[in-house]
Amino acid sequence: MSVAPAPRTPGSLGALLGAHRTCRRCGGGYPIAPACIAAALDPIPDSACRRCAQRRAGGCCPSLGCRRGRLRISRTRCVLGYHCGAARALVLAAKDRGSAPAATLLARLLAGWVADTPAVRDYDMIIPVPFHPATVRGRRWHPLTAVYLEALPYLRRRLPCEDLAPPFLVQTRPITTQRRRAEAARWHAVRGAFALGFRTRMLRGARVLLLDDVMTSGATASECARVLLDDGGAATVDACVFVRQPWRGRARGVI
Ligand SMILES: [Zn+2]
Ligand SMILES: [Zn+2]
Repeated sequence: MSVAPAPRTPGSLGALLGAHRTCRRCGGGYPIAPACIAAALDPIPDSACRRCAQRRAGGCCPSLGCRRGRLRISRTRCVLGYHCGAARALVLAAKDRGSAPAATLLARLLAGWVADTPAVRDYDMIIPVPFHPATVRGRRWHPLTAVYLEALPYLRRRLPCEDLAPPFLVQTRPITTQRRRAEAARWHAVRGAFALGFRTRMLRGARVLLLDDVMTSGATASECARVLLDDGGAATVDACVFVRQPWRGRARGVI
């Protein structure tokens, strides 16, 4: 009899998840409450910027989107916390290496977060950030979409979900890789990269929760929000991301 290899998860997070099988809180089922693995996470403090979840510096939010009033997101909610340590390793395993076990873990954590967060009932719709077909070339699937679709049956129990057939939002052109770009260049790169997938009245007045994997500058989420608000007529757009890139200081010109 062959034994399937255990899914590779990063360090202490793997140990916590291994110990988690008997969790009473999650009932041993599919969803995993992020609170159950809190010891491996770097949570967003209550003192962080409510709009973009960045740590404040000198009483102000240091992110360009907030400083210049550009961010069209009203509030950012984070499933795991800041983009570091075990959470970062897990997100990158799904996003960059296309690890199916990592994507499944993220889906279970998203399902657990939604089950554990009463405020999700305030939203009329959850919509994932779309992707351009060119960015999937050479990969088996698009990581965020795979995570979303896997968690969908559990998410539906708590809030109405976009079924992506057809999607409300589309990405109309590829965005050149954003990593290590200066913050201002990120805002420039995403301008006009998204559009409504079809003409619809279903978004009018809607309170939308926009799902993305990582918030770095917030430019991508903000551009999606702009389309949902200005073209779709949504009332508000909040972001839900797995992790928020922590501020590393202005001197580097990069976040
Ligand atoms: Zn648990
Ligand atoms: Zn902010």
